[in-house]
Amino acid sequence: MSWRTRSSLAWLRGLPGVREGEPLASRTSFGIGGPAEFFLELGRPDAIEAAIEGCCRRGIPYLLLGAGTNLLIADKGVEGLVVRVVNREHTIDGTRVRAGAGLKMMRLARIVADANLRGFEFAIGVPGTVGGAVYQDAGCWGKELREVLVEAEGFVPGAGRQRWTPADLDLGYRTSALRGGALKGALVVSVTVQLQRGDGEEAKELMAKLTRERNESQPIKTKNCGSVFKNPAGDSAGRLVQAAGLKGAREGAAVVSTLHGNFIVNEGGATAADVRKLIEHVMAEVKRRFGAQLEPEVEMVGRWR
Ligand SMILES: Cc1cc2nc3c(=O)[nH]c(=O)nc-3n(C[C@H](O)[C@H](O)[C@H](O)COP(=O)(O)OP(=O)(O)OC[C@H]3O[C@@H](n4cnc5c(N)ncnc54)[C@H](O)[C@@H]3O)c2cc1C
Repeated sequence: MSWRTRSSLAWLRGLPGVREGEPLASRTSFGIGGPAEFFLELGRPDAIEAAIEGCCRRGIPYLLLGAGTNLLIADKGVEGLVVRVVNREHTIDGTRVRAGAGLKMMRLARIVADANLRGFEFAIGVPGTVGGAVYQDAGCWGKELREVLVEAEGFVPGAGRQRWTPADLDLGYRTSALRGGALKGALVVSVTVQLQRGDGEEAKELMAKLTRERNESQPIKTKNCGSVFKNPAGDSAGRLVQAAGLKGAREGAAVVSTLHGNFIVNEGGATAADVRKLIEHVMAEVKRRFGAQLEPEVEMVGRWR
């Protein structure tokens, strides 16, 4: 039975600040995707929790949206409710830092450097939010969030607020219990990370150097989703794509970057269907040439059928 009953629709329409048919493309780094059937942008955790609890009770599908930097949203958009999580508060207590899930990792990297804390410089390479980073244990330059994470505060519809240790979150290379395990559908409210005292100016110099190097080797200033594929154990997805001669391969306005094989760039006007077809083509070619099975790192969400 469909969730789309008169009372569920009335409840959705009654949510304060809700918007119907809200375009989502501009809320993703790809610049691609159809609208949210219903959309809320919320900064107060209790409001986010009430919204997803209400959805669960009524069987309404929902999607939590961070900065939209790891998503390919279907051209037909997203069914049910999309909640954009924008709680961005932070507190620094000695060398421990607690940050709201909606704060951007890059912003937090600068905040902690200003506070003369070290150990979070890697986050300058992650354009998503803290919540999105927990979801798939984001990392960069050989360092992952799990190496500094002390705990996360979260919310499970039907079970309420919880505190999760890194073990509860089952963090692994670009995955977690939120992405595929026991905590699927749960909300990350905040995280606490443990850093070290150090020279903030040195941290800023290191971040500037890493950013310069990245700008030379990856198409950072284009519309993209970062790495499209996870790196297979002991290899690099970008190397495999390049070796298969797929740099520059195209589907509509979606192109495999000529700068880095693990990036797909929206040159302007690419559809989600274009990108998906290109992803499938690359996977098939890499499998045919080298027998390697690439797995998408980007998450495809919404109404694909
Ligand atoms: C140019 C570029 C470079 C990138 N480089 C890197 C890199 O070096 N390393 C890396 O790891 N990633 C990288 N990424 C990918 C991306 O930034 C990360 O995956 C990031 O963690 C996604 O966060 P987000 O807020 O954008 O999440 P979104 O894309 O908005 O969402 C991704 C998933 O997280 C879930 N989610 C978001 N917020 C919450 C929350 N509060 N609670 C529960 N679930 C939530 C969503 O429901 C969704 O399933 C890059 C992306 C781009 C565009």
